[in-house]
Amino acid sequence: MRQTRIALLASLASALLSNAISSAAMPEKAAPSAREKAPTVAEAKVFVAEAEANLLALAVEASRAGWVHSTYITDDTEALAAKANERLISAGVEYAKKAVRYDGLKLEPDVARKMKLLKLGLTLAAPADPKEAEEVTRLGAAMEGEYGKGKYCPEKDKCLDLEEITKIMAESRDAAQLLDVWRGWHTISIPMRPQYQRFVELANKGARELGFKDSGAMWRSKYDMPPDAFAKEVDRLWAQLKPLYVSLHAYVRWKLREKYGDVVPANGPIPAHLLGNMWAQDWSNVFDLVKPPEADPGFDLTKILEAKKLDAKEMVRFGERFFTSLGFGPLPESFWERSLFVKPRDREVVCHASAWDIDNVNDLRIKMCIRPTAEDFTTIHHELGHNFYQRAYNTKPGLFRDSANDGFHEAVGDTIALSITPEYLVKIGLLEKAPDPSKDLGLLLSRALEKLAFLPFGLVVDQWRWKVFDGSITPATYNAAWWDLRTRYQGIAPTVTRSEEDFDPGAKYHVPANVPYTRYFLAAILQFQFHRALSKTAGCTGPLHRCSIYGSKEAGKKLDTMLQMGLSRSWPDALEAISGQREMDATAIRDYFAPLQKWLDEQNKGKPVGWGQAQRLASSTE
Ligand SMILES: [Zn+2]
Repeated sequence: MRQTRIALLASLASALLSNAISSAAMPEKAAPSAREKAPTVAEAKVFVAEAEANLLALAVEASRAGWVHSTYITDDTEALAAKANERLISAGVEYAKKAVRYDGLKLEPDVARKMKLLKLGLTLAAPADPKEAEEVTRLGAAMEGEYGKGKYCPEKDKCLDLEEITKIMAESRDAAQLLDVWRGWHTISIPMRPQYQRFVELANKGARELGFKDSGAMWRSKYDMPPDAFAKEVDRLWAQLKPLYVSLHAYVRWKLREKYGDVVPANGPIPAHLLGNMWAQDWSNVFDLVKPPEADPGFDLTKILEAKKLDAKEMVRFGERFFTSLGFGPLPESFWERSLFVKPRDREVVCHASAWDIDNVNDLRIKMCIRPTAEDFTTIHHELGHNFYQRAYNTKPGLFRDSANDGFHEAVGDTIALSITPEYLVKIGLLEKAPDPSKDLGLLLSRALEKLAFLPFGLVVDQWRWKVFDGSITPATYNAAWWDLRTRYQGIAPTVTRSEEDFDPGAKYHVPANVPYTRYFLAAILQFQFHRALSKTAGCTGPLHRCSIYGSKEAGKKLDTMLQMGLSRSWPDALEAISGQREMDATAIRDYFAPLQKWLDEQNKGKPVGWGQAQRLASSTE
């Protein structure tokens, strides 16, 4: 459900390692020496224009190579794609470092914004010292490699990779086995600990050379507000969500206790290995253990799609019609000719769904191995959300052809997916009659296990890293601080002893790979805010989870206004265009899940709610 667009700067942020490689290899010009002549405003403008044109050309090249690689995996296509990507990243790093030369000049607003984007395109700033740059690169590659190769071997000749472990975490109901693979996977990151410590030192050094307080501050600077103010924003959003999360947590804990017994405490944190997912970031896999008796919505979209014998293209046509119903133009003919809709029989492809905009103008495509399932039907709508966003901002200057911040792109796709309601299915002829809303609890609960359960984890990863980068968490307490945060926010805890010999943060991909994580938290919040605003515009007065914007030209117009802005304006401007609000607002999630909250509170009556100091009895409050 992700999009791997090669936008100009997004790719720089995602391909971190080669990012540092290139900076090590390139001639160093970052720090302006006193002897250098001060640059002028005119020079700055020329510099930005050149960077923009060059990056655009390189991005198109990298997209083409990436597409061929993803849809025809061979050693050659992999090498060609890597090469093209490296050229793009290398240029991006060079421009980011050169941009510092123009600090302090009074530039026209658009030029100033582009200059800032050039500098913020980096996720890892390698230090100027070539030796240190080489070292940070090597460390990053080593950690990502260790993660990728990570295996747990319960027996001498029997090793499990993450894919196999993930399957066990999802499907096993044997608490001892779950704990075993959980503990096993957390051994893969132990060697990363000294590497990560050194990595942080070097990454911070590079960030300081670019004028940031530390690497975490550099990441937070991408959000059109002072880095510390952004950190406060995130806290505020969590405070809005916490009561709902705590209700869900209490209910799930109770049900897991019914299943697993005393290993699940009545009123403490939930054991980290029992939630169906290695990081307890998505609880969907325990739905069958916690579902209410009245969970059946009365229809099964997968069965309907199968019965209709819809092929992949016809399923995508439904997605397209969703957007044309909002007033968007149809997809270009080339989309239908060039997309990959089904898994080819004769070659390897990357089946993970993604949306592409090859030329950053109108060469839109999706790459999916579509099967006639409800999940793929939803994913199609999500991916097309990316495509319509990409096309909407294609008249903006190259550097502005991206979403308003890194949470927006995913949020738009998910917003569209939230409109796949029973009423929508009736309107498009897939369902005869929408079930009574009293049948919705199962659906709402399963959605909450996916989206609501994710939120504290989406927050915690960078809470930890921001503090590591700013020095308030030191290497002496890396692991203790990690578990302190995870318990505080997620209400989960390990049931086996952890110590500073371990390095549990490294058992999550984004830490060794150095990929910022807050974007997922933002996307999870924004999608509900968008959905609530657009549903209101569409005139929906029913419960929010039953609102679909399908067919509403008014909602389409509002959405389009925001999409067209791309990255040319600050994200509060974009947010205001769609929602009338300049602040992110997590109350939309509460509105969406209101019927579930009511139901959860009934279930939780008399039972313990919360954990640790937040603990209380449900009946004693509200
Ligand atoms: Zn996506």
